[in-house]
Amino acid sequence: MSDMVIVRKEGLYCVPGEFYIDPWRPVARAVITHAHSDHARYGHGHYLAAAPGVNILKSRLGDINIQGLEYGTQVVHNGVHISLHPAGHVLGSAQVRMEHRGEVWVASGDYKVEADATCAPFEPVRCDTFITESTFGLPIYRWQPQAEVYADINAWWARNAEQGRASILLGYSFGKAQRMLSGLDPSIGAIICHGAVEPLNRVYREAGVALPDTRMVTDVAKADIRRAIVLAPPSAAGSPWIKRFGDYSDAFASGWMLLRGARRRRGVDRGFVLSDHADWPGLMSAIKATGAQRVIVTHGSIPVMVRWLCQNGLDASGFDTEYGDDEAEDTLPPEPTEAAEAAKAAEVPHA
Ligand SMILES: [Zn+2]
Ligand SMILES: [Zn+2]
Repeated sequence: MSDMVIVRKEGLYCVPGEFYIDPWRPVARAVITHAHSDHARYGHGHYLAAAPGVNILKSRLGDINIQGLEYGTQVVHNGVHISLHPAGHVLGSAQVRMEHRGEVWVASGDYKVEADATCAPFEPVRCDTFITESTFGLPIYRWQPQAEVYADINAWWARNAEQGRASILLGYSFGKAQRMLSGLDPSIGAIICHGAVEPLNRVYREAGVALPDTRMVTDVAKADIRRAIVLAPPSAAGSPWIKRFGDYSDAFASGWMLLRGARRRRGVDRGFVLSDHADWPGLMSAIKATGAQRVIVTHGSIPVMVRWLCQNGLDASGFDTEYGDDEAEDTLPPEPTEAAEAAKAAEVPHA
């Protein structure tokens, strides 16, 4: 049987369905897993996405021709039954299930398995072939439960507030910022959001996600700013907008904060390890839960994951894609030497 999904120069292509999944070049028909900019690009003729993500896509891409599909509902296109299932990554993120002549493929997009308060939890979908991301596909990546990370963030904020200085918390503005927000304790002080973050908070709230009250900096009295926490994108670091907070403590939230080198390069006071991607055990449990005999690995640690999966009796290979790293934004991805050391240190365990 020939492969249902292949890589073309435009992106992942469903051959019988004649559509693309998260294509990186303009195409006629695109199924979009989520609204991060490396997965959802401008210029496609028609977009299909999970209904909870439609307003995010519109807020980022403007007036596009888009059809929203409720999770778990099927549409048929050129004989391929398509349905979208929660990926637990960000609001509206979806895995794409494709069924054709009794064979099932699932393309994961980005995913994480730990449920959080800001999006529908990851749903394992049985399939013959699973296309998985591998952003944190090394055994060294193991996340603490998010409740512990939230407790650390709140303790850091409370200590800064006691000492009369603002806390600047940097993280990706779509998804990461809202997830951090959902874990903050508003009794400590005011929560101020950067102008890149607040419009997304609005879309989340309109979708029914409960988030604590947030304010723009101009609406907060000077005295209160010294007890406030400020959520801003990494690109705001060192900007005049940040400098207005005077004597502040800063922190960065990302899965990469597990690496000492990444923390050092970022040059912040604190690193919180909080990722919207599955860690190594999460990737492994997700793959196992699909029951797939064949696994295709995309963006991240392709060789390590492929080798490990093959050692464990699966038919594994990689796809070269043009997806980036939404956890990294500007300067964060590990330097090649550091990544190589991490890979070497990663004594790949057996199941
Ligand atoms: Zn993403
Ligand atoms: Zn991705």
